[in-house]
Amino acid sequence: MSLSSSLIKELQQICGENGVMTSEVDRQNYSYDAAVLEPTIPAAVIRPNSKEAIGKVISLCNDSGTPVTVRGAGTNLSGGTIPDKNGIVLLTNRMNRIIELNETDMHVRVEPGVVTADLAAQVAAKGLFYPPDPGSQAVSTIGGNVAENAGGLRGFKYGVTKDYVMSVEFFDALGRKVTSGSKTVKCVTGYNLAGLMTASEGTLGIFSEITLKLIPPPAASKAMMAVYDSVEAATQTVAAIIADRIVPCTLELMDNFTINAVEDFSNVGLPRDAKALLLIEVDGHPAQVAEDGEKVEQICKKLGARAIQVAQNDAEKDKVWEARRAALSALARLKPTLVLEDATVPRSKIPAMVSAVEKLAQKYDIPIGTFGHAGDGNLHPTLLTDRRDAAHWDRVEHCVADLFDAALSLGGTLSGEHGIGIAKAGFMRNEVGQSSIDFSRTMKAAIDPNNILNPGKIIGR
Ligand SMILES: Cc1cc2nc3c(=O)[nH]c(=O)nc-3n(C[C@H](O)[C@H](O)[C@H](O)COP(=O)(O)OP(=O)(O)OC[C@H]3O[C@@H](n4cnc5c(N)ncnc54)[C@H](O)[C@@H]3O)c2cc1C
Repeated sequence: MSLSSSLIKELQQICGENGVMTSEVDRQNYSYDAAVLEPTIPAAVIRPNSKEAIGKVISLCNDSGTPVTVRGAGTNLSGGTIPDKNGIVLLTNRMNRIIELNETDMHVRVEPGVVTADLAAQVAAKGLFYPPDPGSQAVSTIGGNVAENAGGLRGFKYGVTKDYVMSVEFFDALGRKVTSGSKTVKCVTGYNLAGLMTASEGTLGIFSEITLKLIPPPAASKAMMAVYDSVEAATQTVAAIIADRIVPCTLELMDNFTINAVEDFSNVGLPRDAKALLLIEVDGHPAQVAEDGEKVEQICKKLGARAIQVAQNDAEKDKVWEARRAALSALARLKPTLVLEDATVPRSKIPAMVSAVEKLAQKYDIPIGTFGHAGDGNLHPTLLTDRRDAAHWDRVEHCVADLFDAALSLGGTLSGEHGIGIAKAGFMRNEVGQSSIDFSRTMKAAIDPNNILNPGKIIGR
Protein backbone atom coordinates (compact mmCIF):
# COMPACT_ATOMS: atom_id res chain seq x y z
CA MET A 1 0.00 0.00 0.00
CA SER A 2 1.26 3.52 -0.66
CA LEU A 3 0.91 6.53 1.62
CA SER A 4 -1.81 9.06 0.86
CA SER A 5 -0.67 11.93 -1.36
CA SER A 6 -1.46 14.44 1.38
CA LEU A 7 0.74 12.56 3.87
CA ILE A 8 3.60 12.43 1.33
CA LYS A 9 3.24 16.16 0.74
CA GLU A 10 3.43 16.85 4.47
CA LEU A 11 6.49 14.61 4.81
CA GLN A 12 8.14 16.47 1.91
CA GLN A 13 7.46 19.79 3.61
CA ILE A 14 9.24 18.49 6.71
CA CYS A 15 12.18 16.63 5.10
CA GLY A 16 12.49 18.23 1.67
CA GLU A 17 11.73 16.47 -1.63
CA ASN A 18 14.88 14.34 -1.60
CA GLY A 19 14.16 13.39 2.01
CA VAL A 20 11.14 11.33 0.91
CA MET A 21 11.83 8.29 -1.28
CA THR A 22 8.89 6.40 -2.74
CA SER A 23 10.24 4.68 -5.87
CA GLU A 24 9.99 0.88 -6.11
CA VAL A 25 13.79 0.56 -6.15
CA ASP A 26 14.32 2.73 -3.07
CA ARG A 27 11.61 0.93 -1.14
CA GLN A 28 13.04 -2.48 -2.09
CA ASN A 29 16.50 -1.38 -0.97
CA TYR A 30 15.19 -0.83 2.55
CA SER A 31 13.00 -3.94 2.76
CA TYR A 32 15.64 -6.13 4.45
CA ASP A 33 18.66 -6.01 6.70
CA ALA A 34 21.58 -8.33 7.57
CA ALA A 35 19.29 -11.04 9.05
CA VAL A 36 18.09 -13.99 6.97
CA LEU A 37 14.39 -13.16 7.01
CA GLU A 38 11.63 -12.43 4.54
CA PRO A 39 11.83 -8.80 3.34
CA THR A 40 8.87 -6.41 3.66
CA ILE A 41 8.67 -3.48 1.27
CA PRO A 42 7.89 -0.22 3.11
CA ALA A 43 5.47 2.41 1.79
CA ALA A 44 8.22 5.07 1.82
CA VAL A 45 11.73 5.82 3.06
CA ILE A 46 12.04 9.11 4.96
CA ARG A 47 15.32 10.90 5.69
CA PRO A 48 14.87 13.70 8.27
CA ASN A 49 17.80 16.09 8.65
CA SER A 50 17.02 17.68 12.01
CA LYS A 51 15.73 16.73 15.43
CA GLU A 52 12.59 18.77 14.91
CA ALA A 53 11.96 16.88 11.66
CA ILE A 54 12.13 13.54 13.51
CA GLY A 55 9.51 14.76 15.99
CA LYS A 56 7.20 16.05 13.26
CA VAL A 57 7.49 12.84 11.19
CA ILE A 58 6.63 10.66 14.19
CA SER A 59 3.73 12.88 15.12
CA LEU A 60 2.29 12.62 11.60
CA CYS A 61 2.78 8.86 11.61
CA ASN A 62 1.05 8.53 14.96
CA ASP A 63 -1.93 10.58 13.77
CA SER A 64 -2.25 8.50 10.60
CA GLY A 65 -1.46 5.13 12.28
CA THR A 66 1.60 4.62 10.07
CA PRO A 67 4.23 2.25 11.51
CA VAL A 68 7.80 3.65 11.73
CA THR A 69 10.94 1.55 11.60
CA VAL A 70 14.04 3.62 12.31
CA ARG A 71 17.20 2.47 10.55
CA GLY A 72 20.88 3.32 10.88
CA ALA A 73 23.03 1.19 8.58
CA GLY A 74 20.75 -1.88 8.62
CA THR A 75 23.58 -4.21 9.75
CA ASN A 76 21.63 -5.76 12.61
CA LEU A 77 21.40 -9.53 12.50
CA SER A 78 17.95 -10.01 14.04
CA GLY A 79 15.52 -8.37 11.60
CA GLY A 80 15.24 -5.20 13.69
CA THR A 81 14.99 -2.97 10.62
CA ILE A 82 12.66 -5.06 8.50
CA PRO A 83 9.82 -2.57 8.15
CA ASP A 84 6.18 -3.12 8.90
CA LYS A 85 3.71 -3.62 6.08
CA ASN A 86 2.37 -0.19 5.03
CA GLY A 87 4.94 1.48 7.28
CA ILE A 88 7.82 3.84 6.64
CA VAL A 89 11.55 3.44 7.16
CA LEU A 90 13.05 6.46 8.92
CA LEU A 91 16.72 6.67 7.89
CA THR A 92 19.18 8.52 10.14
CA ASN A 93 22.03 8.89 7.64
CA ARG A 94 21.55 12.66 7.23
CA MET A 95 22.01 13.13 10.96
CA ASN A 96 25.67 12.20 11.24
CA ARG A 97 27.30 15.14 13.04
CA ILE A 98 29.57 14.98 16.06
CA ILE A 99 28.04 17.88 18.00
CA GLU A 100 30.64 18.24 20.74
CA LEU A 101 33.83 16.39 21.67
CA ASN A 102 34.64 17.44 25.22
CA GLU A 103 38.27 16.57 26.00
CA THR A 104 38.16 17.96 29.54
CA ASP A 105 35.10 16.07 30.78
CA MET A 106 35.79 13.19 28.38
CA HIS A 107 32.50 12.75 26.58
CA VAL A 108 31.18 13.13 23.07
CA ARG A 109 27.71 14.29 21.96
CA VAL A 110 26.57 12.89 18.63
CA GLU A 111 23.66 12.65 16.27
CA PRO A 112 22.37 9.07 15.85
CA GLY A 113 23.66 8.53 12.30
CA VAL A 114 27.36 8.96 13.13
CA VAL A 115 29.31 5.92 11.90
CA THR A 116 30.97 4.03 14.77
CA ALA A 117 34.47 3.86 13.24
CA ASP A 118 34.38 7.58 12.31
CA LEU A 119 33.56 8.42 15.91
CA ALA A 120 36.33 6.14 17.25
CA ALA A 121 38.87 7.72 14.84
CA GLN A 122 37.93 11.31 15.71
CA VAL A 123 38.08 10.53 19.41
CA ALA A 124 41.46 8.78 19.01
CA ALA A 125 42.84 11.82 17.19
CA LYS A 126 42.21 13.77 20.43
CA GLY A 127 44.06 11.17 22.53
CA LEU A 128 40.87 9.57 23.87
CA PHE A 129 39.29 6.13 23.50
CA TYR A 130 35.78 4.84 22.66
CA PRO A 131 36.11 1.07 23.17
CA PRO A 132 32.93 -0.61 21.74
CA ASP A 133 34.02 -2.04 18.39
CA PRO A 134 31.37 -4.18 16.67
CA GLY A 135 32.71 -6.05 13.66
CA SER A 136 30.44 -3.83 11.55
CA GLN A 137 31.93 -0.58 12.88
CA ALA A 138 33.05 0.64 9.46
CA VAL A 139 29.37 1.20 8.59
CA SER A 140 27.22 0.73 11.72
CA THR A 141 25.82 3.84 13.42
CA ILE A 142 25.87 4.96 17.04
CA GLY A 143 22.03 5.06 17.06
CA GLY A 144 21.95 1.43 15.93
CA ASN A 145 24.70 0.49 18.41
CA VAL A 146 22.80 1.98 21.36
CA ALA A 147 19.47 0.54 20.19
CA GLU A 148 21.07 -2.94 20.03
CA ASN A 149 23.50 -2.45 22.94
CA ALA A 150 26.23 -3.58 20.53
CA GLY A 151 29.30 -5.40 21.78
CA GLY A 152 32.50 -6.23 19.98
CA LEU A 153 35.98 -7.64 20.39
CA ARG A 154 36.85 -5.57 23.46
CA GLY A 155 33.77 -6.48 25.53
CA PHE A 156 35.65 -8.73 27.97
CA LYS A 157 37.58 -5.86 29.56
CA TYR A 158 35.78 -2.72 28.41
CA GLY A 159 32.13 -3.80 28.39
CA VAL A 160 29.54 -3.00 25.72
CA THR A 161 27.78 0.11 24.39
CA LYS A 162 25.53 0.52 27.46
CA ASP A 163 28.63 1.05 29.61
CA TYR A 164 29.37 4.26 27.64
CA VAL A 165 25.88 5.79 27.34
CA MET A 166 25.74 8.87 29.60
CA SER A 167 22.55 10.43 28.27
CA VAL A 168 20.07 10.14 25.44
CA GLU A 169 17.57 12.45 23.79
CA PHE A 170 14.77 10.73 21.89
CA PHE A 171 11.35 11.34 20.41
CA ASP A 172 8.54 9.20 21.75
CA ALA A 173 5.62 7.72 19.79
CA LEU A 174 3.64 10.95 20.09
CA GLY A 175 6.53 13.01 18.69
CA ARG A 176 7.55 14.52 22.04
CA LYS A 177 11.19 15.15 22.85
CA VAL A 178 12.39 13.30 25.98
CA THR A 179 15.83 13.41 27.64
CA SER A 180 17.42 11.17 30.23
CA GLY A 181 20.87 11.00 31.82
CA SER A 182 23.48 13.69 32.21
CA LYS A 183 26.98 14.78 31.26
CA THR A 184 28.08 14.16 34.84
CA VAL A 185 29.91 10.96 35.80
CA LYS A 186 27.18 10.23 38.35
CA CYS A 187 23.46 10.88 37.92
CA VAL A 188 20.48 9.31 39.68
CA THR A 189 17.85 11.87 38.75
CA GLY A 190 14.60 10.15 37.84
CA TYR A 191 13.99 6.78 36.24
CA ASN A 192 16.91 5.44 34.22
CA LEU A 193 15.19 6.00 30.88
CA ALA A 194 18.56 6.01 29.10
CA GLY A 195 19.05 2.46 30.40
CA LEU A 196 15.55 1.44 29.27
CA MET A 197 16.13 2.90 25.81
CA THR A 198 19.43 1.05 25.40
CA ALA A 199 18.70 -2.20 23.52
CA SER A 200 15.09 -1.09 22.86
CA GLU A 201 15.56 -1.70 19.10
CA GLY A 202 13.53 1.30 17.95
CA THR A 203 10.38 0.10 19.74
CA LEU A 204 10.12 2.79 22.43
CA GLY A 205 11.51 5.95 20.83
CA ILE A 206 13.87 7.34 18.22
CA PHE A 207 17.23 8.74 19.35
CA SER A 208 18.04 12.23 18.15
CA GLU A 209 21.16 12.78 20.27
CA ILE A 210 23.40 10.53 22.36
CA THR A 211 26.19 11.44 24.81
CA LEU A 212 28.89 8.82 25.22
CA LYS A 213 31.59 8.45 27.84
CA LEU A 214 35.20 8.42 26.67
CA ILE A 215 38.23 7.03 28.51
CA PRO A 216 42.01 7.41 28.22
CA PRO A 217 43.53 4.89 25.81
CA PRO A 218 45.74 2.09 27.17
CA ALA A 219 49.45 2.97 27.18
CA ALA A 220 50.61 -0.41 25.86
CA SER A 221 49.29 -3.67 24.48
CA LYS A 222 50.45 -7.12 23.43
CA ALA A 223 48.65 -9.44 21.01
CA MET A 224 49.27 -13.13 20.48
CA MET A 225 47.86 -16.16 18.72
CA ALA A 226 47.85 -19.54 20.47
CA VAL A 227 47.55 -22.63 18.27
CA TYR A 228 45.76 -25.78 19.51
CA ASP A 229 45.33 -29.36 18.38
CA SER A 230 42.02 -29.64 20.21
CA VAL A 231 39.08 -27.28 20.68
CA GLU A 232 38.65 -28.52 24.26
CA ALA A 233 42.18 -27.41 25.18
CA ALA A 234 41.52 -23.96 23.69
CA THR A 235 38.22 -23.52 25.55
CA GLN A 236 39.78 -24.78 28.79
CA THR A 237 42.50 -22.15 28.33
CA VAL A 238 39.82 -19.46 28.16
CA ALA A 239 38.33 -20.69 31.45
CA ALA A 240 41.83 -20.88 33.04
CA ILE A 241 42.79 -17.32 32.01
CA ILE A 242 39.57 -16.01 33.56
CA ALA A 243 40.01 -18.13 36.69
CA ASP A 244 43.53 -16.68 37.09
CA ARG A 245 41.94 -13.19 37.34
CA ILE A 246 43.62 -11.95 34.17
CA VAL A 247 41.45 -9.59 32.11
CA PRO A 248 42.64 -9.46 28.49
CA CYS A 249 40.96 -6.75 26.42
CA THR A 250 40.26 -9.38 23.77
CA LEU A 251 39.99 -13.15 23.96
CA GLU A 252 38.67 -14.68 20.74
CA LEU A 253 38.26 -18.28 19.57
CA MET A 254 38.29 -19.62 16.02
CA ASP A 255 37.65 -23.28 15.12
CA ASN A 256 39.28 -25.29 12.31
CA PHE A 257 36.40 -24.76 9.90
CA THR A 258 36.63 -20.99 10.31
CA ILE A 259 40.46 -20.97 10.18
CA ASN A 260 40.36 -22.62 6.75
CA ALA A 261 37.59 -20.34 5.49
CA VAL A 262 39.65 -17.29 6.55
CA GLU A 263 42.81 -18.69 4.95
CA ASP A 264 40.98 -19.35 1.67
CA PHE A 265 39.63 -15.81 1.78
CA SER A 266 42.51 -13.65 2.94
CA ASN A 267 45.63 -15.85 3.04
CA VAL A 268 47.04 -14.33 6.21
CA GLY A 269 49.10 -17.42 7.09
CA LEU A 270 46.92 -19.15 9.70
CA PRO A 271 47.85 -22.78 10.48
CA ARG A 272 45.29 -24.76 8.47
CA ASP A 273 45.79 -27.95 10.49
CA ALA A 274 45.09 -26.30 13.87
CA LYS A 275 41.89 -27.49 15.51
CA ALA A 276 41.46 -24.09 17.19
CA LEU A 277 43.13 -20.72 17.64
CA LEU A 278 42.90 -18.27 20.50
CA LEU A 279 43.55 -14.65 19.57
CA ILE A 280 44.43 -12.73 22.70
CA GLU A 281 45.34 -9.14 23.48
CA VAL A 282 46.26 -7.67 26.85
CA ASP A 283 46.55 -3.91 27.33
CA GLY A 284 47.14 -1.29 30.03
CA HIS A 285 50.24 0.01 31.82
CA PRO A 286 53.42 -1.43 30.20
CA ALA A 287 54.42 -3.28 33.41
CA GLN A 288 50.94 -4.84 33.69
CA VAL A 289 50.96 -5.79 30.03
CA ALA A 290 54.33 -7.52 30.44
CA GLU A 291 53.13 -9.44 33.51
CA ASP A 292 49.71 -10.40 32.08
CA GLY A 293 51.23 -11.32 28.71
CA GLU A 294 53.74 -13.63 30.40
CA LYS A 295 51.03 -15.28 32.54
CA VAL A 296 48.74 -15.79 29.53
CA GLU A 297 51.56 -17.43 27.56
CA GLN A 298 52.27 -19.79 30.46
CA ILE A 299 48.60 -20.78 30.78
CA CYS A 300 48.31 -21.40 27.03
CA LYS A 301 51.40 -23.64 27.09
CA LYS A 302 50.27 -25.50 30.22
CA LEU A 303 46.92 -26.29 28.63
CA GLY A 304 48.44 -27.66 25.45
CA ALA A 305 49.00 -24.80 22.96
CA ARG A 306 51.44 -26.24 20.42
CA ALA A 307 52.66 -22.77 19.41
CA ILE A 308 52.24 -19.19 20.55
CA GLN A 309 52.98 -16.39 18.12
CA VAL A 310 53.43 -13.01 19.76
CA ALA A 311 52.95 -10.01 17.46
CA GLN A 312 56.25 -8.13 17.36
CA ASN A 313 54.95 -4.89 15.91
CA ASP A 314 51.74 -3.10 14.92
CA ALA A 315 51.73 -4.68 11.45
CA GLU A 316 51.80 -8.18 12.96
CA LYS A 317 49.13 -7.19 15.48
CA ASP A 318 46.91 -5.88 12.69
CA LYS A 319 47.35 -9.20 10.90
CA VAL A 320 46.01 -11.12 13.92
CA TRP A 321 42.91 -8.92 14.07
CA GLU A 322 42.47 -8.83 10.31
CA ALA A 323 42.16 -12.62 10.44
CA ARG A 324 39.47 -12.46 13.12
CA ARG A 325 37.54 -9.66 11.44
CA ALA A 326 37.55 -11.59 8.17
CA ALA A 327 35.79 -14.61 9.76
CA LEU A 328 32.21 -13.69 8.90
CA SER A 329 32.93 -12.57 5.33
CA ALA A 330 35.08 -15.68 4.79
CA LEU A 331 32.30 -18.04 5.93
CA ALA A 332 29.68 -16.08 3.96
CA ARG A 333 31.41 -17.02 0.69
CA LEU A 334 30.93 -20.75 1.23
CA LYS A 335 27.15 -21.12 0.90
CA PRO A 336 24.29 -18.97 -0.39
CA THR A 337 22.83 -18.45 3.10
CA LEU A 338 24.57 -17.88 6.41
CA VAL A 339 22.88 -17.90 9.82
CA LEU A 340 25.06 -16.23 12.44
CA GLU A 341 23.96 -16.93 16.02
CA ASP A 342 25.06 -15.31 19.27
CA ALA A 343 23.54 -17.33 22.10
CA THR A 344 25.78 -16.65 25.08
CA VAL A 345 26.72 -18.67 28.16
CA PRO A 346 28.48 -18.01 31.47
CA ARG A 347 32.17 -18.02 30.65
CA SER A 348 32.91 -21.20 32.58
CA LYS A 349 30.41 -23.00 30.31
CA ILE A 350 32.24 -22.21 27.05
CA PRO A 351 33.72 -25.74 26.75
CA ALA A 352 30.23 -27.28 27.22
CA MET A 353 28.66 -24.87 24.69
CA VAL A 354 31.30 -25.59 22.04
CA SER A 355 30.77 -29.30 22.54
CA ALA A 356 26.97 -28.84 22.23
CA VAL A 357 27.43 -26.95 18.93
CA GLU A 358 29.65 -29.75 17.57
CA LYS A 359 27.02 -32.37 18.47
CA LEU A 360 24.25 -30.34 16.81
CA ALA A 361 26.33 -29.91 13.63
CA GLN A 362 26.59 -33.72 13.47
CA LYS A 363 22.98 -34.41 14.44
CA TYR A 364 21.56 -32.12 11.74
CA ASP A 365 24.43 -32.62 9.26
CA ILE A 366 24.95 -28.87 8.87
CA PRO A 367 28.36 -27.22 8.40
CA ILE A 368 28.89 -24.86 11.36
CA GLY A 369 31.90 -22.58 11.75
CA THR A 370 32.39 -21.35 15.31
CA PHE A 371 34.28 -18.21 16.23
CA GLY A 372 33.69 -15.28 18.53
CA HIS A 373 34.14 -13.57 21.82
CA ALA A 374 35.08 -16.58 23.97
CA GLY A 375 36.14 -14.32 26.84
CA ASP A 376 32.55 -13.03 27.10
CA GLY A 377 30.98 -16.49 26.71
CA ASN A 378 29.61 -15.05 23.46
CA LEU A 379 30.36 -17.38 20.57
CA HIS A 380 29.05 -17.05 17.03
CA PRO A 381 28.19 -20.52 15.71
CA THR A 382 27.61 -19.82 12.02
CA LEU A 383 25.39 -22.23 10.10
CA LEU A 384 25.98 -22.53 6.37
CA THR A 385 22.96 -23.36 4.27
CA ASP A 386 20.89 -22.52 1.22
CA ARG A 387 17.50 -21.10 2.08
CA ARG A 388 16.11 -22.28 -1.26
CA ASP A 389 16.66 -25.89 -0.16
CA ALA A 390 13.51 -26.38 1.96
CA ALA A 391 14.66 -29.61 3.60
CA HIS A 392 18.05 -28.20 4.60
CA TRP A 393 16.46 -24.98 5.84
CA ASP A 394 14.04 -26.99 7.99
CA ARG A 395 17.03 -28.74 9.60
CA VAL A 396 18.67 -25.34 10.20
CA GLU A 397 15.58 -24.03 11.98
CA HIS A 398 15.47 -27.07 14.27
CA CYS A 399 19.21 -26.83 14.87
CA VAL A 400 18.97 -23.14 15.86
CA ALA A 401 16.11 -23.90 18.29
CA ASP A 402 18.24 -26.66 19.87
CA LEU A 403 21.17 -24.28 20.04
CA PHE A 404 19.10 -21.77 22.01
CA ASP A 405 17.91 -24.57 24.33
CA ALA A 406 21.51 -25.65 24.88
CA ALA A 407 22.57 -22.10 25.82
CA LEU A 408 19.61 -21.64 28.17
CA SER A 409 20.17 -25.01 29.85
CA LEU A 410 23.75 -23.89 30.58
CA GLY A 411 22.42 -20.74 32.30
CA GLY A 412 22.96 -18.59 29.20
CA THR A 413 20.93 -16.14 27.14
CA LEU A 414 19.42 -16.00 23.64
CA SER A 415 21.49 -13.02 22.56
CA GLY A 416 24.74 -11.56 23.83
CA GLU A 417 24.82 -8.65 21.41
CA HIS A 418 22.78 -9.11 18.23
CA GLY A 419 19.38 -8.38 19.77
CA ILE A 420 16.00 -10.08 19.49
CA GLY A 421 14.25 -8.24 16.63
CA ILE A 422 11.91 -10.57 14.79
CA ALA A 423 14.38 -13.44 14.60
CA LYS A 424 14.27 -14.43 18.27
CA ALA A 425 10.97 -12.89 19.41
CA GLY A 426 9.33 -16.33 19.37
CA PHE A 427 11.94 -17.73 21.75
CA MET A 428 11.78 -14.93 24.35
CA ARG A 429 9.35 -16.76 26.63
CA ASN A 430 11.81 -19.63 27.07
CA GLU A 431 14.29 -17.26 28.67
CA VAL A 432 12.38 -14.47 30.41
CA GLY A 433 8.96 -16.07 31.02
CA GLN A 434 5.46 -14.85 30.13
CA SER A 435 5.21 -12.33 32.98
CA SER A 436 8.25 -10.43 31.69
CA ILE A 437 6.73 -10.33 28.19
CA ASP A 438 3.36 -9.17 29.61
CA PHE A 439 5.07 -6.43 31.64
CA SER A 440 6.98 -5.24 28.55
CA ARG A 441 3.81 -5.25 26.43
CA THR A 442 1.92 -3.22 29.04
CA MET A 443 4.76 -0.69 29.14
CA LYS A 444 4.98 -0.49 25.34
CA ALA A 445 1.19 -0.01 25.03
CA ALA A 446 1.27 2.85 27.54
CA ILE A 447 4.17 4.59 25.76
CA ASP A 448 3.10 3.83 22.21
CA PRO A 449 -0.72 3.48 22.27
CA ASN A 450 -1.07 3.07 18.50
CA ASN A 451 1.86 0.64 18.32
CA ILE A 452 3.61 2.61 15.58
CA LEU A 453 7.23 2.25 16.73
CA ASN A 454 8.82 -0.82 15.12
CA PRO A 455 5.83 -3.08 15.85
CA GLY A 456 6.41 -6.80 16.23
CA LYS A 457 10.03 -6.53 17.34
CA ILE A 458 11.31 -8.07 20.62
CA ILE A 459 7.90 -8.79 22.25
CA GLY A 460 5.81 -9.67 19.19
CA ARG A 461 2.45 -8.01 18.75
C1 LIG B 1 29.66 -8.14 9.48
C2 LIG B 1 28.91 -7.82 10.74
C3 LIG B 1 29.59 -7.85 11.95
C4 LIG B 1 28.91 -7.55 13.13
N1 LIG B 1 29.61 -7.58 14.30
C5 LIG B 1 28.98 -7.25 15.45
C6 LIG B 1 29.69 -7.28 16.70
O1 LIG B 1 30.88 -7.59 16.76
N2 LIG B 1 29.00 -6.95 17.81
C7 LIG B 1 27.68 -6.59 17.78
O2 LIG B 1 27.11 -6.28 18.82
N3 LIG B 1 26.98 -6.59 16.62
C8 LIG B 1 27.59 -6.89 15.47
N4 LIG B 1 26.90 -6.88 14.29
C9 LIG B 1 25.45 -6.52 14.30
C10 LIG B 1 25.16 -5.01 14.01
O3 LIG B 1 26.19 -4.43 13.27
C11 LIG B 1 24.92 -4.23 15.29
O4 LIG B 1 23.71 -4.65 15.88
C12 LIG B 1 24.86 -2.70 15.11
O5 LIG B 1 24.71 -2.10 16.38
C13 LIG B 1 23.73 -2.23 14.20
O6 LIG B 1 23.97 -0.87 13.85
P1 LIG B 1 23.21 -0.24 12.62
O7 LIG B 1 23.56 1.20 12.54
O8 LIG B 1 23.45 -1.03 11.40
O9 LIG B 1 21.71 -0.37 13.11
P2 LIG B 1 20.44 -0.93 12.32
O10 LIG B 1 20.69 -2.32 11.88
O11 LIG B 1 20.06 0.06 11.29
O12 LIG B 1 19.36 -0.90 13.46
C14 LIG B 1 19.47 -1.77 14.57
C15 LIG B 1 18.30 -1.53 15.52
O13 LIG B 1 18.42 -0.24 16.08
C16 LIG B 1 17.26 0.54 15.83
N5 LIG B 1 17.71 1.91 15.62
C17 LIG B 1 18.59 2.36 14.67
N6 LIG B 1 18.76 3.67 14.79
C18 LIG B 1 18.00 4.08 15.85
C19 LIG B 1 17.72 5.36 16.45
N7 LIG B 1 18.24 6.50 16.00
N8 LIG B 1 16.87 5.39 17.51
C20 LIG B 1 16.31 4.25 18.00
N9 LIG B 1 16.51 3.04 17.45
C21 LIG B 1 17.35 2.95 16.39
C22 LIG B 1 16.61 -0.10 14.61
O14 LIG B 1 15.23 0.14 14.53
C23 LIG B 1 16.95 -1.57 14.83
O15 LIG B 1 15.99 -2.15 15.68
C24 LIG B 1 27.53 -7.21 13.09
C25 LIG B 1 26.85 -7.19 11.87
C26 LIG B 1 27.53 -7.50 10.71
C27 LIG B 1 26.77 -7.46 9.41
